[in-house]
Amino acid sequence: MNILLVYPSRLDSCGRLVKYRQAFLPPLALAILTALTPPPHAVRVVNDLVEEIDFAADVDLVGISIMTSQAERGYRIADRFRKRGVKVVIGGIHASCRPEEARRHASAVVIGEAETTWPKVLVDAETGRLQPYYQADGWADLSRSPGPDFSKFRLDVYASTPFSRFPIMMPVFTTRGCPYGCRFCSVTRFFGSRYRTKPVAQVVAEILSIGAPEYFFVDDNLTCQPEYARELFAALEGLKREGKGIRFFSQVSTRILLHTDLIDRAARAGCSGLFIGIESIEERNLSAMGKTFNRVVDYEELFSRLQGAGISPHPSIIFGFDSDTPAQFGRTFDFLVRTRVGGASFWLLTPLPGTDLFEEMERDGRLLEGQRWSSYDMDHVVFRPRNFTPDDLYQRFWAHCRRFHSWKNTLRRIGFKVAMSRNPLKTAVNQAILGYRFRLAILAGDNPFSCGFGRYLADGEGGQSKSAGLLTETPGRFRTWV
Ligand code: SF4
Repeated sequence: MNILLVYPSRLDSCGRLVKYRQAFLPPLALAILTALTPPPHAVRVVNDLVEEIDFAADVDLVGISIMTSQAERGYRIADRFRKRGVKVVIGGIHASCRPEEARRHASAVVIGEAETTWPKVLVDAETGRLQPYYQADGWADLSRSPGPDFSKFRLDVYASTPFSRFPIMMPVFTTRGCPYGCRFCSVTRFFGSRYRTKPVAQVVAEILSIGAPEYFFVDDNLTCQPEYARELFAALEGLKREGKGIRFFSQVSTRILLHTDLIDRAARAGCSGLFIGIESIEERNLSAMGKTFNRVVDYEELFSRLQGAGISPHPSIIFGFDSDTPAQFGRTFDFLVRTRVGGASFWLLTPLPGTDLFEEMERDGRLLEGQRWSSYDMDHVVFRPRNFTPDDLYQRFWAHCRRFHSWKNTLRRIGFKVAMSRNPLKTAVNQAILGYRFRLAILAGDNPFSCGFGRYLADGEGGQSKSAGLLTETPGRFRTWV
């Protein structure tokens, strides 16, 4: 079969298609699907964020992976192919949480992980016996999960560092699952509460096969199982001794402080930065979200230890919790400056389908009516906050983002990173380029970590772009909940 795998973009508040000049990371889910699709099937991969979809292409099957903010665009793509009689299969976290909704736009819906479902989908599609739903049978055995195959990707559409033929980072994963089940997060429901690990030798082989210098381990918590993390870091350190060392970025929880040796081991293995879901500097918010293992009192020590080891802490912070007040923005900004963090991500609290928070807000009538799934991107307000109007929260959030990414603070943050770098010149150049791009993205009302750089709007149907230019929407000029 000719198979087209699509990573959909999303729509703006007026239903127009959002596109980017460069994407941030190649979508790992499609690289895994590619690896799960054996010859003689022919696979093509399209990242709708930055590439055009050929709706007239000669394809037998279209596979679309969606998270909630991509759902509307994904459904439009599916509808257009199905109109031509092409079979469409939709999967991903959103489709797994709302399979009946996805089924209205798809020939079949995959619920759960692809490793245990996609091979059967291929057989059934080829023999004309596609079933409406494919429910994963338990959780995938990661030792049998194939390494990501990026051979069908156009890597030139991703942001890269100067003189590199690879994107800034190539995504890989080593573990799945999370035992904590925080109320705003769907990871535990989608990937299970049991922490599963991929054999370290397999991870190393995947890295060597990809051959890039920088990676993003997209694991939700790379160090959840300390023994596994030690083994992984030792193997990566071994690669370094052989002259095949890599640099990597990943995500950990604050519990890494319970095993501080992991910080030094990660640094020796090539870790340059760690994304940490601190979520809030207000204990009551953490408690309300069931993330009680985060202790605000530990944050400074954690950041300081990471910085001492040469790892840049990258806290991820959410605004809009019920205990947040307008003062929270200023307090958070001061905290980030005081702790000398080189970068941070900010999000608006979003009750994503598949989470306890969504069910609770739906039950309590707090979800704003008339919201599109595209607005569930963590950059928009889709519920009634406790201590703000939706508009007020939205405006304050983006004002905070602009302040954090102001030229003055960007220069200050570059200084923090350069001060702890082993290669100050390279760090200064790369961070200056990134800082500039992040600043432009934020000014355009866009979160660069979500999608990419250089946003513009297309016609919403995947045709040629009608408008190009960076600043097509600004946070101050529209309100998505109207
Ligand atoms: S927020 Fe992090 S710790 Fe909490 S459930 Fe999600 S992945 Fe696990």
